[in-house]
Amino acid sequence: MNLSMFSLEGKTAIVTGANTGLGQGIAVALAGAGASLALVGRSAPDETVELVQKAGGKAHVIMADLGSLDPLDRIIEETKEALGGVDILVNNAGIIKRNDAIDFTVEDWDSVMNINLRSLFFLSQKAARAMIEAGTGGKIINIASMLSFQGGVRVPSYTASKSGVLGLTRLMANEWARYGINANAIAPGYFATNNTDALRADEKRNTEILGRIPAGRWGQPSDLGGAAVFLSSAASDYVHGTVVAVDGGWLAR
Ligand code: NAP
Repeated sequence: MNLSMFSLEGKTAIVTGANTGLGQGIAVALAGAGASLALVGRSAPDETVELVQKAGGKAHVIMADLGSLDPLDRIIEETKEALGGVDILVNNAGIIKRNDAIDFTVEDWDSVMNINLRSLFFLSQKAARAMIEAGTGGKIINIASMLSFQGGVRVPSYTASKSGVLGLTRLMANEWARYGINANAIAPGYFATNNTDALRADEKRNTEILGRIPAGRWGQPSDLGGAAVFLSSAASDYVHGTVVAVDGGWLAR
């Protein structure tokens, strides 16, 4: 098999929420495979810029708060200007709010839905328009979750958003596959990032979670690299609307 089908040489990728955690791991993996990166987020991704450059990639930083739709056009335009086009979009930025469903507030509902679902859809729409206009196809990768499959507890807006991400991934595939755009999702299991600080700090929850992961450990951001490169590359050109679980076996349990 010719491994060049996994190469991202000459491709440009937007990764949202790239300053830390899974977004950083994905950005570094794509850079290692040859892509130029537009690193999007509300915190300066200095460490990621350094890691991307070390991996041999070019990094362009776009500061943007994805709590609103205002920066979306600018993200696409700036990526085109700085890097020459939009080949790959990784919708990674996301937040979680924890509270009993009985007490859950409208604010905690809206803030999560706005970033995890609303901005994800409209940034994908704008990226797809750019890909269609360029006529080169492209790749959209949405970061889903185990809570795209399961209900979870004390995270109603997160569960709703991540279940929605899976549905939207399928819808994007149905409408955009004809343009050579592959829309797929990655569902990370339990990874050691800011998002799961509270879970790992709770000894009981930490032990329960670890006991249920067949691989016996929390995931590290670098564990997502293989799936991200595959779904960004020509190796996945006939893969549409699916989700790759990178979960240490959690869903198999
Ligand atoms: P994280 O370390 O908290 O990273 C979240 C990223 O999203 C950060 O870069 C964050 O920027 C960015 N972000 C949050 N709000 C934003 C906003 N309003 N505008 C722009 N960027 C914003 O958590 P993570 O675990 O890497 O999460 C990345 C994705 O993976 C999320 O979609 C999450 O739901 C998903 N996920 C994580 C796990 C896990 O176990 N960790 C499992 C399944 C899915 P700041 O640093 O500035 O806040």
